[in-house]
Amino acid sequence: MPKSAKSRAEQHVPPPPPEPLAVPVTDSHTHLDMQDTTVEEALARAAAVGVTRVVQIGCDVERARWAAKIAAEHEAVWAAVALHPNEAARIDREDGPGALDAALAEIAGLARLHQVRALGETGLDYFRTGPEGTAAQQHSFRRHIALAKELDKTLVIHDRDAHDDVLRILREEGAPRRTVFHCYSGDAAMAGICAAEGWFMSFAGNVTFGSAQPLRDALAAAPPELLLVETDAPFLTPTPFRGRPNAPYLIPVTVRAMAAVKGMTEEDMSRHLAANTVRAFG
Ligand SMILES: [Zn+2]
Ligand SMILES: [Zn+2]
Repeated sequence: MPKSAKSRAEQHVPPPPPEPLAVPVTDSHTHLDMQDTTVEEALARAAAVGVTRVVQIGCDVERARWAAKIAAEHEAVWAAVALHPNEAARIDREDGPGALDAALAEIAGLARLHQVRALGETGLDYFRTGPEGTAAQQHSFRRHIALAKELDKTLVIHDRDAHDDVLRILREEGAPRRTVFHCYSGDAAMAGICAAEGWFMSFAGNVTFGSAQPLRDALAAAPPELLLVETDAPFLTPTPFRGRPNAPYLIPVTVRAMAAVKGMTEEDMSRHLAANTVRAFG
């Protein structure tokens, strides 16, 4: 077949498994419900390379219910539940008055379950949602922060093109004891702010992208005690597999890239990540 057709076909082929990690780590943010495998397959493939736990993120009421369900069924899964900021804006726009608060009440019910470790992903997304959705996103973010504090659960933040407002609202509300910036996207200066506050920074496969030097600079500035690693799979597949489907078993690729940026051994990096995950998701 012509070369272009072949490379297009390759885009759908899952990348080969990387060398296993010597020290097991957790994929701190994944979406198993959006991946092309069963939960059992995904967990087995991940465990085979030293990724022995995943935090499954439910982004709307139905997916949050599913996240809680699979976390109850699998010891290797912790659940996080929330309305994604884009979902909060969608509900507000499409589902009529009162719908957003009704959905937030459903999330609050699920958040009480013991296998649900975190409220997330919540936050602000000014990239996909325009200014007409800002009020709904901010209202939803504030409610999730309050709930995380009330239930003493971890807060997992999605922050896309919204650093200033995310930091402002966190300060206005008062951050929960354990706060995670998922798919960390701030610069080195913001990493300094997170470090001073004790907020965790979770790096995804995009830290390996050629264009991501500012992200590597942020990673270089972040204290090892506040680092987490995630796939955000099926998105953000690390180099050299960019564009192909991502899954928790590819975590070692990102761990190795992070170790290189920090000038640490892979084992040392993994040990930090493993200990941080336990502290972050308590
Ligand atoms: Zn996100
Ligand atoms: Zn996500």
